[in-house]
Amino acid sequence: MARITVAKGDGIGPEIMDATLDIIKAAGANLQIDEIEVGEKVYLAGNTSGISKDSWDVIRRNKVFLKAPITTPQGGGYKSLNVSIRKMLGLYANVRPCTSMAPFVATKHPVMDVVIIRENEEDLYAGIEHQQTDEVVQCLKLISRPGCEKIVRYAFEYAKLYGRKKVTCFTKDNIMKQTDGLFHQVFDEIAAEYPQIENEHWIIDIGAAKLADTPEMFDVIVMPNLYGDVLSDVAAQIAGSVGLAGSANIGMECAMFEAIHGSAPRRAGQNVANPSGLLQGAVLMLNHLGMADVAEKVQNAWLKTIEDGIHTYDIYKEGVSTQKVSTSDFAKAVISNLGKTPVTLKTVKYEKGSVLSFPEIKRKPMAKKELLGVDVFVHWSGTNPDELAGMLKSVETQGVKLNMITNRGIKVWPEGFSETFCTDHWRCRFKPQSTEIMDKKEIVALLQNALNNNVDAIKTENLYSFDGKVSYSLGQGQ
Ligand code: NAD
Repeated sequence: MARITVAKGDGIGPEIMDATLDIIKAAGANLQIDEIEVGEKVYLAGNTSGISKDSWDVIRRNKVFLKAPITTPQGGGYKSLNVSIRKMLGLYANVRPCTSMAPFVATKHPVMDVVIIRENEEDLYAGIEHQQTDEVVQCLKLISRPGCEKIVRYAFEYAKLYGRKKVTCFTKDNIMKQTDGLFHQVFDEIAAEYPQIENEHWIIDIGAAKLADTPEMFDVIVMPNLYGDVLSDVAAQIAGSVGLAGSANIGMECAMFEAIHGSAPRRAGQNVANPSGLLQGAVLMLNHLGMADVAEKVQNAWLKTIEDGIHTYDIYKEGVSTQKVSTSDFAKAVISNLGKTPVTLKTVKYEKGSVLSFPEIKRKPMAKKELLGVDVFVHWSGTNPDELAGMLKSVETQGVKLNMITNRGIKVWPEGFSETFCTDHWRCRFKPQSTEIMDKKEIVALLQNALNNNVDAIKTENLYSFDGKVSYSLGQGQ
């Protein structure tokens, strides 16, 4: 018996959740269910997070959460509950299997069988954004080594457990050498621990193009948050429909399972929605709970139902489908197929007790960190970098001098090009002149000089080396 939390959500949520629960219970899932209310009603009652403290307590106690889609009201400062749940519970891995079911569901890619594993907590989704000048806003892209280690190891352990042959990594580390570079580096380190699984890395742009064009080249793909957010929808859609895909959000302690689509409010209350996406989420949940036999039974009965042409309106197609059914009749058809296996589609087989377990993340000892300089960002509405360089003479100290100015990362001083377009946001790099290492007090002195001379310093970034390795980017063109 497993105790789980269920939220029926908004829009089509209650209908597809009832259908899903009917199917998994009929398959023999031994579950004790605690139902909580999240979403629209909670938001509109004045709780901008969409969830009450009591509901958090239930989710944290039960650790496993099956959630139907919810409606996030537009505007009004309502926070996305999905993002809050993922981050607050540390659900670092988003797992989304995308398998085509040709010829029963139309797709250009009949042999596609890809699992996207998306990092779920970091990257630009930290949501740390600031306006810094009249013209420039920024979003911080944060990637941590433990974050990379957790997600990459998850991808390889997943591949091992489910008999997958290859793990591919997508990044853009030819441009983002620090952030995406770290993700790629950790991928290479961890891949070496799994010699039995093939590994490869693709630059995200060509990787995405290949995924959309020839998805059969890929098996498991792991990637940072933003790329994974976009490409997991692409992968689900080209496999057949986003309406057929489920996803798991896995953390060290807790896990949440859901459909990938939203609450489709226009279809609510009509008993027409396809419960397959949420059912796929529930199959991932049953495997997570160690109920591999029940998961297998549900998945094979579902495949058989799709294969029989018993389809809800969204995938119904004259000539392929045999019957257009309601949400509840689709559930009844799956239940009547429990114990059967598909004939054309591949029958699934899940390992008994297939539960992933991980070693604790071991933090590396602290590196020797040395300050090599500082980037002072300046808000200045002029256009000639030589003029700014002249002004910055007043900011220099006896030992620390202006080394370079960039505008949006492009070097504009010394020896910039007059063609380079400049905004009002200037990165001014200062480095010590006669030594390599800079005293941290110099930063304070530089900022004091800037203040005294009406130079509008808006932020600084320290330039470090870690264990002797220079750990910041050069200016474009430097
Ligand atoms: P949506 O996925 O809810 O619906 C888009 C369209 O897809 C619908 O109009 C419908 O035609 C179709 N569709 C979706 N699911 C279907 C199903 N199971 N069966 C049949 N047809 C289906 O996307 P949206 O309209 O952009 O968003 C509606 C609401 O859902 C918004 O408030 C959004 O914030 C929320 N949302 C929630 C989640 C979540 O809870 N995980 C995810 C995405 C969107």
